[in-house]
Amino acid sequence: MKKILALTFLLSAMCAVAQPKVVAHRGYWKTDGSAQNSITALKKANQIKAWGSEFDVSQTADGVLVVNHDATIGPDKILIEGAKYDDIKDITLANGEKVPTLEQYLKAAKKCKNVRLVLEVKPHTTSEKNIKATRDAMAMVKKMGLAKKTEYISFASVVCDEVLKVDPKAKVAFLGSSMSAQAVKDRGYTGVDFLYTMFINNPNLVKQCHDLGLTVNVWTVDKDDLIRKMIEQGVDYITTNVPERTEELIKEAYTK
Ligand code: MG
Repeated sequence: MKKILALTFLLSAMCAVAQPKVVAHRGYWKTDGSAQNSITALKKANQIKAWGSEFDVSQTADGVLVVNHDATIGPDKILIEGAKYDDIKDITLANGEKVPTLEQYLKAAKKCKNVRLVLEVKPHTTSEKNIKATRDAMAMVKKMGLAKKTEYISFASVVCDEVLKVDPKAKVAFLGSSMSAQAVKDRGYTGVDFLYTMFINNPNLVKQCHDLGLTVNVWTVDKDDLIRKMIEQGVDYITTNVPERTEELIKEAYTK
């Protein structure tokens, strides 16, 4: 009896490990009162108990880190890295919230006990700016006591390199398609975070990454058939604009 119980426990633990984790892309924003990269979207990702909430970070010319997807912001398309914070601080998101600073965002994150943070440092126009934005973002994460629940992603290899220089134990995944899984491993990153077409075009890619000890995140997966395909392929994280539906499909796949 004890052996059977132990075996059942082991099998359920294995299944739990194998299930993909859901990352709400730019927070959970496709729901009432929310907006991409808003503090509300973070809170809503926490409410639905998404594994993680992804968000984008850029730095203004006077050194303030803000949460926003594009390099530009507002109706006048002000370039964030060229602007003073004062010039953009009153710009509102689609839900009426003001553009959050990273500090405001992380303060809210401290109260969100369920959700982990997937912090994307957006590419700035120079390596120096990328390095400064990465260092400053990581320092703020540390100051807020959130280092253990934050992972990093970026299209800029200089950002990923800097994450590991600052904290060799940090988790960091490369977003671009310009590097092979082997190259990602060789640079010391802990995972890949690739566009879904890369996995469709190469069904062995997940295994190749896993054989190298890399975690596999896929973006941005919103359609049922694609979500099912990524679950079947055995990815570790699914980054999606429909986190609740993705959770449902994962549950469905694992209770078959
Ligand atoms: Mg992003």
